[in-house]
Amino acid sequence: MVSRIIPVDNFDLVVFGATGDLAMRKIFPALYHRFIAQQMPADARIIGVARSDVSEENFRKLVQENLQKFCPQSVKQHDNLQDFLNNIQYISIDVHGDKGWALLQKAMRADDDTDNNIVQAFYLSVNPSLFGIIASKLKQHHIAHKQSRIIIEKPFGTDAASAKALNAALRTSFSEQQIYRIDHYLGKETVQNLMVLRFANALWEPLWNSTHIDHVQITVAENIGVQGRGEYYDKSGAMRDMVQNHLMQLLCLTAMEPPSRFHPDAVRNEKVKVIESLEPVAQTDIVRGQYLASNINGDADGSYHQHVNNPDSMTESYIAMKVNIGNWRWAGTPFYLRTGKKLRSRCSEIAIIFREPPHMIFPKSSHQRANSLIIRLQPNEKIDLHTMAKEAGLGGMRLTEAVLNMNFQDTINNQLDVQDAYERLIMDVIRGSQTLFMRDDEVEAAWEWIDPIIDGWHKANHRPLPYEAGSAGPDDALMLMHRDGRRWQEIEP
Ligand code: NAP
Repeated sequence: MVSRIIPVDNFDLVVFGATGDLAMRKIFPALYHRFIAQQMPADARIIGVARSDVSEENFRKLVQENLQKFCPQSVKQHDNLQDFLNNIQYISIDVHGDKGWALLQKAMRADDDTDNNIVQAFYLSVNPSLFGIIASKLKQHHIAHKQSRIIIEKPFGTDAASAKALNAALRTSFSEQQIYRIDHYLGKETVQNLMVLRFANALWEPLWNSTHIDHVQITVAENIGVQGRGEYYDKSGAMRDMVQNHLMQLLCLTAMEPPSRFHPDAVRNEKVKVIESLEPVAQTDIVRGQYLASNINGDADGSYHQHVNNPDSMTESYIAMKVNIGNWRWAGTPFYLRTGKKLRSRCSEIAIIFREPPHMIFPKSSHQRANSLIIRLQPNEKIDLHTMAKEAGLGGMRLTEAVLNMNFQDTINNQLDVQDAYERLIMDVIRGSQTLFMRDDEVEAAWEWIDPIIDGWHKANHRPLPYEAGSAGPDDALMLMHRDGRRWQEIEP
């Protein structure tokens, strides 16, 4: 089989926050997998930066332990872990100070004057309050140059004003073409396949509008609680933590017009147009919730209030909302979004629910369902088309639902490793492809739509409704659909 791995250019990748959770759980495993796949040049360098005063040797040991923890199979199956670790350096820098930057500059192979084709990238896996200072220190210490790339993680602000301030701070040292805002949902195989499904097949486009689609449901359900992130989460809530970024991105890719070409700005222009077409949401079209304490199969766990250590918290761990897109394609087809913690199971999916046939010639049956296209992002990425079929055998014309399963694991990826989203996104940064990263105006437009909704809650002193852990959310969320004669998809693993 011809290898589908296209090696990337040689690079120096600096990971700020290298001792942190995200770096150890996602970034180093992603890099290690790309190293194993030989996509990374053998001498690409990774330079970890954090305040902790650890020796390079001990830092490598820390990375090794975490790789053994988070990707044990890969470590077991390959004998080149030491080669990977040898390419890792560590420099202790408190980014508020001026110590250590000269060492970092020395460790980098590329600078302004050289033309050695070594891509230089800085991954800021740190608290967003440090983004601005790191960007300006990189400039002040002549470490970043005009081709350097900077990668930042959500949250991209907490409202439109802070997002604008953050973007302005980054732009004092980097141009927009150098900034890569990661939303790891965009790196998922199925999310990209959604674009291929829509824009590389003539089959769907004539149906992809309000004439044929009754409604769309976008669900990002988690079965875990706030898990030690209580302090951060209580200031954020589901709307800021999930809707503003992940759900908004999924909505954009589902609703956008076909871009003229698969080019970063062509795609991102269409996404911005969707966000700008979102109509204001009435408070009656939103349900907010907070999970209660649970005891599921003897496994006792605290309530949202206990987890965030704030008995008066008014922050939502669940949100469901009906969103209307005010444009020709989607007028009359609502998008229902929901996301929450401590729900029945972990499940992210987009469900496209088509309209019923205009006239039914078969006897009325409880098995009759409108066609639906279910795009499952996690777990078990796949696309299912639910159609009606005749139940086999004698006994009259009985209808049953038949599912056409486009399981990528079986059909497309049977010879390939399925990559984690971070693997793809980091390699895209090295390639210089911004298509799967959010642009400044996209982030700001999303906040501009969301800010009035959150302001409305504050003004009304709105209290989220309690819901059982392990359920599908507050009963009022069911009513949000019922009153429109619709129902949510089951939250299934
Ligand atoms: P974390 O575990 O708290 O790690 C923070 C890192 O920053 C540590 O390596 C810390 O190391 C370093 N650091 C803190 N202050 C510093 C300073 N003044 N100078 C230099 N280094 C400093 O955080 P995280 O969970 O990895 O998250 C990192 C970023 O990713 C955050 O913006 C978070 O919101 C975002 N994010 C995280 C996840 C996730 O799953 N964890 C998911 C999505 C987004 P020292 O203490 O040694 O300095």
